[in-house]
Amino acid sequence: MPLTRLSEEEEIFRSTVRDFAEERVRPRVAEMERDAAQPPDLLSELFELGLMGIEIPEELGGAGASFFMSILAIEEISRVDPALAVPVDIQNTLMANLFMRWGNEEQRNQYLPRLARDTLGSYALSEANSGSDAFALQTRAVRDGKVYRLSGRKHWISNAQEAGLFVVFANADPEAGHRGITAFILERDMPGFVVGRKEDKLGVRASSTCELVLDEVEVPEANVLGEVGQGYKVAIETLNEGRIGIGAQMLGLAEGALEGALAYSGERKAFGQRIGDFQAVQHLLAECATDVETTRLHVYNAARVRDAGLPCVREGAMAKLVASRVAESVASRCVDVYGGVGVTKECLAEKYLRDAKVAQIYEGTTFMQLNTIAKILQRDG
Ligand SMILES: Cc1cc2nc3c(=O)[nH]c(=O)nc-3n(C[C@H](O)[C@H](O)[C@H](O)COP(=O)(O)OP(=O)(O)OC[C@H]3O[C@@H](n4cnc5c(N)ncnc54)[C@H](O)[C@@H]3O)c2cc1C
Repeated sequence: MPLTRLSEEEEIFRSTVRDFAEERVRPRVAEMERDAAQPPDLLSELFELGLMGIEIPEELGGAGASFFMSILAIEEISRVDPALAVPVDIQNTLMANLFMRWGNEEQRNQYLPRLARDTLGSYALSEANSGSDAFALQTRAVRDGKVYRLSGRKHWISNAQEAGLFVVFANADPEAGHRGITAFILERDMPGFVVGRKEDKLGVRASSTCELVLDEVEVPEANVLGEVGQGYKVAIETLNEGRIGIGAQMLGLAEGALEGALAYSGERKAFGQRIGDFQAVQHLLAECATDVETTRLHVYNAARVRDAGLPCVREGAMAKLVASRVAESVASRCVDVYGGVGVTKECLAEKYLRDAKVAQIYEGTTFMQLNTIAKILQRDG
């Protein structure tokens, strides 16, 4: 069976998300890009359609589907708007995953239904001086009886402007180094917790990326996610799977860019013929299509490996590495197909190119993916 062949259920799901993306998202992409914001009603529609709790069990309000289905949803939304895919990606591949894997029964029962129903989540690990070197984080959690007091600043936190729930990584025992890092569940309205400045970015502009300021935020000990001192494991394991989601985002982006360029090549005329009749343009499009298919194989394989319960660190890192490079390169070549109009806001070609760049940075830079792959290569051959 070809790896990219979908089951009937997956096919139906894909076409439902595609219809939603075409009918409800596409008409609003320009507005979201102009305002650098995601309209609350569109985010609500994502919840109503069941796209924000795809893997969450049905008894907890989710769709009870597979990780692979989340990947299909991220791909299809990204095909039309890679920025709107950010909340879909974080909610499914990081937030739901965090609570399903590391939450105790009470936390699962309390938070998973909210994540599936109406509450956007944010994953807060990075700081101004700790991105790749994530475990050098400086946010501190000081125990005070039955609570922890969290102080520090987080940077680059996606969804922060719209989120109601945050998982914040802080060090509860700095002398223990990374073995002091602990994951805490925070509510937006906790005293001392402020969502700060929003970044003005090159791409995925409608997706909010903000600073978080924590000033002695009192967090009950019941809000520790996983064990105290195990936060580094919580972070690594969720990000390993999250990278497959970024792969899917970039796969969808490359597909969207290519579809646009292919259609344009059939309309635009030069030297008395369609530009798509020039072999140079045909070859450009053929190479892009081949790169997209290579990416699909990586991303789908990584997701299927994850669903089979097998280790997927290498597969996830490779999927993200390949997809983020292909997305930038396909989007850039597609701009070429449009000629001058390709660098204007008249078509989406330039937006796809700008949206692609960040995938080589977030959830681990390209060099960090190569470090991971190299380490596994040296260990396993
Ligand atoms: C739009 C956006 C959204 C984000 N969303 C989130 C979020 O929701 N939650 C969150 O916690 N974080 C988020 N991040 C942060 C993101 O994960 C970090 O930016 C990323 O990990 C890189 O860290 P840095 O920016 O500090 O760069 P640095 O770590 O300073 O890296 C700078 C350069 O040095 C290289 N480098 C560093 N260390 C090594 C090494 N050991 N080997 C080889 N090269 C190395 C890097 O590859 C890079 O080229 C987001 C970032 C962006 C831009």
